[in-house]
Amino acid sequence: MLIIGFESSCDETGVALVCTREGLLAHALHSQIDMHRDYGGVVPELASRDHIRRIIPLTRKVLAQAERSLDHIEAVAYTAGPGLAGALLVGASVAQAFAWARQLPAIPVHHLEGHLLSPMLAEPRPEFPFIALLVSGGHTQIMRVDGVGRYELLGETLDDAAGEAFDKTAKLLGLGYPGGPALSRMAEQGDAAIHDLPRPMLHSGDLDFSFSGLKTAVLTKVRALEKMHGALSQQHLADLAAATELAIVDVLASKSLKAVKQTGVRRLVVAGGVGANRLLRERLRTEIARMRGEVFFPPLEFCTDNGAMIAFAAAQRVNAGLVDLADSRHAFTVRPRWGLHEISTPQPAGA
Ligand code: ATP
Ligand code: MG
Ligand code: FE
Repeated sequence: MLIIGFESSCDETGVALVCTREGLLAHALHSQIDMHRDYGGVVPELASRDHIRRIIPLTRKVLAQAERSLDHIEAVAYTAGPGLAGALLVGASVAQAFAWARQLPAIPVHHLEGHLLSPMLAEPRPEFPFIALLVSGGHTQIMRVDGVGRYELLGETLDDAAGEAFDKTAKLLGLGYPGGPALSRMAEQGDAAIHDLPRPMLHSGDLDFSFSGLKTAVLTKVRALEKMHGALSQQHLADLAAATELAIVDVLASKSLKAVKQTGVRRLVVAGGVGANRLLRERLRTEIARMRGEVFFPPLEFCTDNGAMIAFAAAQRVNAGLVDLADSRHAFTVRPRWGLHEISTPQPAGA
């Protein structure tokens, strides 16, 4: 079955074609990063308007790339949530209108399920069960994944997401937008050992996180340095960036490995934008090897938001028999707030 997938939950417009048997055929992406940079964050109204401008040209592009026409499409998938309501509505409207006009099934996809399954877009493909560290701009969760649609939340952040901690600290240090990659680049020139930053909840005994205090700790260091030196030098900024990155990576790595130990599932999958972080990748590779486990990362282009993961998640759900393809209701409903546990099928007793 040939599925077209649309992603428009935040500031990336993504379109992709996935075949339930052959996998990913083509995908195209437009990032609005340059448009939002002047504002230091995503402006929802601008995001929605830009999705409208991009979505049809991107659709033409993937069809051309895959050498298919609209007539070949057999189902339409779209991100139904969570995300910005106005932005989600663009993808949902285009998908539902197209499905309705052609009498095709429309498949609403949970954005985090897209992120969660994205490591399966590459070879080698992780097998079930695996432990997933989902680290994006809005979420930080550790999940046990036993199959498509079988997700158990083991731990999550109590306040800011890891990506948010990167973004807010980068903003505080004036490192540019988006913060994660900017802070990480700056950190390469710095010495993390110069500043002792807190590792929130490192020894809390559970698999939860808290990152909101980190920004305040960095701010305190900034104030102290300013008092001593007047303005901060590039080296000061680099050292602070390195210390911040290390503190975040320490906590993320330690909790994910703890989840691996606790469950005995020695396969770890990292998904979401922060999964692009080099230090996190290196650290997890080294430590999981020591435990004789395996770690899987999505290719960099599939770490942050993209259409491929949405079309792919829909294909996985179709293959797992979780989609009612005969359902011909075409509701223009999006769910800006939507927990992944709400789409999890109950585990069989004793499993
Ligand atoms: P969500 O999926 O939770 O709704 P989102 O879609 O905005 O959030 P993603 O696109 O998955 O999140 O990831 C974006 C986040 O990843 C941003 O916070 C960004 O700073 C962070 N990020 C991207 N690259 C890196 C990197 N190299 N190091 C650290 N963080 C990074
Ligand atoms: Mg984004
Ligand atoms: Fe995302």
